[in-house]
Amino acid sequence: MYRDDHDGHPDHRAQLVSYSNRLLHDGLAVGSAGNMSVRAGDEVVITPSGVRYPDMAAGDVCVVGMDGAQRAGAAEPSSETPMHLAVYAATQARAVVHTHSPEVIALSAVCAELPAIHYAISGLGGPVRVARYTRFGSEGLASAAVAALDGRSAAILQNHGAICYGASLAEAYDRAVLLEWLARVHRLACARGEPRILTGAELADVTAEMRRRRYGEAGRRTDRP
Ligand code: 13P
Ligand code: ZN
Repeated sequence: MYRDDHDGHPDHRAQLVSYSNRLLHDGLAVGSAGNMSVRAGDEVVITPSGVRYPDMAAGDVCVVGMDGAQRAGAAEPSSETPMHLAVYAATQARAVVHTHSPEVIALSAVCAELPAIHYAISGLGGPVRVARYTRFGSEGLASAAVAALDGRSAAILQNHGAICYGASLAEAYDRAVLLEWLARVHRLACARGEPRILTGAELADVTAEMRRRRYGEAGRRTDRP
């Protein structure tokens, strides 16, 4: 059995409720779609399944072990808990954000990847792969997402949405916003013709310059160009 009190991770619970409402207001999801989590040692604090964001309370936020067993939370953990756990197992992620952001979903129905339409894509590790469609909540989706994330901090889930991770919830969320913006820029470019895409060498040059300027490091006011 699991506890249904608020014991444990009060800051993460509050942060997850706050960022979930941002997801709604930023248009990255509707209703109760999407989900997010934060890793805390050998536990993952994750949003509940099927709870509409305006109704979500800190006590609804769930805590699961790395085996997926629920340890706390008044509601069921997200149906995408297997995908979140798979990302934590495969990467250094401290937080994971899954969106149903419209520009990304539209792109996924047409393209095999989001190419380097703007140099800021280097903040996601390069062109963003589209993982083949697999039903929500499935182990197949979890493994497809992990494969598409190889060397990237973001991936697109075909006919579904996006998954991003970061060293903090703020970083993972910012990446989800950046991904949606890049997909929009790509659509705008495609409406005007065949877009020019940055080469691998140009992207490597950007990455080197960002390192030189120490973008994303503690103490800087911004983590993106
Ligand atoms: P949950 O409400 O179960 O988190 O599911 C939302 C979702 O986006 C499924 O992919
Ligand atoms: Zn989803």
